[in-house]
Amino acid sequence: MPTTDPAELLRAVTFDARGLVPAIAQDALTGEVRMLAYMDRDALEATVRTGLATFWSRSRGAPWVKGETSGHTLGVVEVLLDCDGDCVLLRVEPAGPTCHTGAPSCFSRAWRGERWTDGARPLAEVDALWATLDARRREPEASGRSYTRQLLDAGARRIGEKLREEADELARAVEGEGDDRVAAEAADVVFHALVGLVSRAVPWRAVLATLAKRRGVSGLAEKASRGA
Ligand SMILES: [Zn+2]
Repeated sequence: MPTTDPAELLRAVTFDARGLVPAIAQDALTGEVRMLAYMDRDALEATVRTGLATFWSRSRGAPWVKGETSGHTLGVVEVLLDCDGDCVLLRVEPAGPTCHTGAPSCFSRAWRGERWTDGARPLAEVDALWATLDARRREPEASGRSYTRQLLDAGARRIGEKLREEADELARAVEGEGDDRVAAEAADVVFHALVGLVSRAVPWRAVLATLAKRRGVSGLAEKASRGA
């Protein structure tokens, strides 16, 4: 986060009659929406200067650094402004759960047409699938004899066999089968890769972090660092 003069950003923002602008915090890697709060000019300026999400507290009547007491700060990767300048989007690196309830996201209640589901998370599909599979690992009794459970119980060797098998099927689909087959075989590879990650308790987010890191350096530098 560069600590340059935020004057140009501040000029582009339309603050409302109370001098506030809504700011949404989104996980920079997973896309998960973490929270919504309001910023005044000072809070936005402090956010850019310090690289830590800072909001306006109506109860305290002062700017507050998110996580200043809990340690669950939001490191700001990028500040985006919407088309008419009246809403800020922060792409963040969360240092822990964001909601005061201890949930990762403040948006943890889902209305699914007839009732509330607690513990929901606004995650992209692959992260959501990882979380579902990880729940099967942590609660074996609740997952019965599901396919995932069987693979996890069978262990790393069996998971590795399935991965090789599925990768081979994907390779053959890429070589000479229809687009639907390619998508289906790639889905099988991703699914089994997730089972492998879950078996080692490695989050999908760690994979995204690795990809993001590679994207951040030049292709040549990345190749050099891998000794290729
Ligand atoms: Zn909350």
